[in-house]
Amino acid sequence: MTDLPETETQAAAELEALAAEIAHHNRLYHTEDAPEISDADYDALIRRNAALEAAFPHLVRADSPSRQVGAAPAGHLAKVAHARPMMSLDNAFSDEEVAEFVARVRRFLRLADDEPVALTAETKIDGLSCSLRYEDRRLVQALTRGDGQVGEDVTENVRTIADIPATLPPEAPAVFEIRGEVYMAKADFAALNRRLADEAEASGKAARQFANPRNAAAGSLRQKDAGVTASRPLRFFAHGWGEVSALPAGTQNGVVAALQHWGLPIAEGFTRADTVEAAIAAYRAIEARRADLPFDIDGVVYKVDRLDWQQRLGQVARAPRWAIAHKFPAQQAQTTLNAIDIQVGRTGKLTPVARLEPVTVGGVVVTNATLHNADEIARLGVRPGDRVVLQRAGDVIPQIVDNLSRDDSRPPWPFPTHCPECGSAAEREPGEVDWRCSGGLICPAQRVERLRHFVSRHALDIDGLGITNIESFFRDGLIQTPADIFRLTEETLLARERWAEVSARNLIAAIDARRAPPLDRFLFALGIRHVGEVTARDLARRWTSWAGLMAMIDQGIALRDATPAAIGESDDKHLARLAKALAAVVDTKQVGPEVALALIDFFAEPHNRAAVDDLLSQVSPADLVWQTRESAVSGQTLVFTGKLETLSRDEAKAQAEALGARVAGSVSAKTDLVIAGADAGSKLKKAADLGVRVIDEATWNGLVAGTVTLD
Ligand code: ZN
Repeated sequence: MTDLPETETQAAAELEALAAEIAHHNRLYHTEDAPEISDADYDALIRRNAALEAAFPHLVRADSPSRQVGAAPAGHLAKVAHARPMMSLDNAFSDEEVAEFVARVRRFLRLADDEPVALTAETKIDGLSCSLRYEDRRLVQALTRGDGQVGEDVTENVRTIADIPATLPPEAPAVFEIRGEVYMAKADFAALNRRLADEAEASGKAARQFANPRNAAAGSLRQKDAGVTASRPLRFFAHGWGEVSALPAGTQNGVVAALQHWGLPIAEGFTRADTVEAAIAAYRAIEARRADLPFDIDGVVYKVDRLDWQQRLGQVARAPRWAIAHKFPAQQAQTTLNAIDIQVGRTGKLTPVARLEPVTVGGVVVTNATLHNADEIARLGVRPGDRVVLQRAGDVIPQIVDNLSRDDSRPPWPFPTHCPECGSAAEREPGEVDWRCSGGLICPAQRVERLRHFVSRHALDIDGLGITNIESFFRDGLIQTPADIFRLTEETLLARERWAEVSARNLIAAIDARRAPPLDRFLFALGIRHVGEVTARDLARRWTSWAGLMAMIDQGIALRDATPAAIGESDDKHLARLAKALAAVVDTKQVGPEVALALIDFFAEPHNRAAVDDLLSQVSPADLVWQTRESAVSGQTLVFTGKLETLSRDEAKAQAEALGARVAGSVSAKTDLVIAGADAGSKLKKAADLGVRVIDEATWNGLVAGTVTLD
């Protein structure tokens, strides 16, 4: 911080750059609620600006960040793990999908056709999810949703929201986490933006405006200074719960009634529906009133009313099986397509993006829309200058659905034959719709995207290493591969412009904190084609350790090398045959041939292998530890056979996995326990031959309930 510029010209230039950079981060943080640098880095910029202004007081700019009262954002909000994960919801877009949801519930629970499945229906508020923890009936902690596992501590901020009671009445249980939505009413949102505009005008600065009520609520709640939150008109609706010591009722409807009785606001329109038809009627009624409601909603959430059924249904990936969000239809608008740009993704995929004349769709200003691929451009027949119809549904990226200037006598827009970033030829594999840059690791766009993916929130999640830093480190040759991130030192950072000791130390600490990443995150971070977050988790659960996973992969590579095309076999046929054989090696239920092929291909590529080996000299992926209940069957291999009376196979398997057991399809010497339903045939005989213990379904149910033990 002592290295001040030597000349006034240099100082003025740096102050100008700082003003622009800080304004940029203010906008990301406040308006878009999407900061790309850590609070520590942000603070370093502010301090650098202050030091320069102290040394060159006559150079202080009219738009200096130091003159912007209240513009400084939160600083660090502490991160805290949720006692119970905060889940997201699956979506339905049609009545048929809602009916299918209920049918799935029936199948899972094996309900008779005439057994009613009562649902609750409630408005889906476009707000910021929060978990409020009450201990001994006093509010002790409030967390944002965060990534569902870890949230941000906003306790003091939440205390300023009048809708949220500081205490619960005596009848409430000792521990109760209330979950709901912090939101801003439409009228309050408009008034806030007006106020910000007036304040900006009075001080002669550019107005800071929130894009929509959701962003305004998020930006207002996530403030380090709770005084700022208090000045913002935030409200709250309760809709669920997390960890509780007791529940006041056996149904969703009953608990919601209790919450209301305890003084928590419940969104208007909450109702119970005994049939699918009644639930959809509730949806239609809410949809008809949508424009008149004082707050923004984007759909209706249905939940299975019986809590014992919710318990049995459990969850899959990040969403519960017992709830679904029925989204309202997309909103549309017309605008002009100004240009088509090509973006290069981390796998080299060339994605055309439409640059649009700004237009408001469903309350949000849209300037870009994805055009997906060359086929989509041809299908729409779009060229720059055309009038197009834009559609936006919920959080989905806006799409162009129609071209009003369509004229098929014009030649189609020429899709580029070369990567705009590195000039390598664009390629399209047979049967694929996407063009890809063939530059691989020489393509800077792909390399930066891979690095950015590597540190992103659901991958290694390295705090403070946002896109700005990644790009500048990459440009300056400091980071070329993921492994290089772990070779950064405080000294290298301090040698760079605008790095202070605190921010350098913080970033190195954040990097060091990720030297033993969970196996699934590590796998996802590698950016293997088709290996998304869920697939990475499935693979990690199946193979549990890096060593186990690599043993399997080496087996796959050996098989790949030993499976050449047969004489006269087409490339497509050969690949399909190979992929199927590899899926058997990968041996993970949810992983199909295409994904198995991509996984093995990735590790068979020498430069990928070298990059991973280099990375492993810096980090050690941690074995996957199941979040399970210790039980008599933990670590055992179970086989279910015959016709189960009270359970579907899916539920039985979910129960077994929750107890730490693995479920196999056939009885072998490795089987520890067989659960036999009615009419169990050959498997039962085989179990008897091998001396494997067999229990009936009732005993299994007792085991799950904890009322029966195996000796
Ligand atoms: Zn390229």
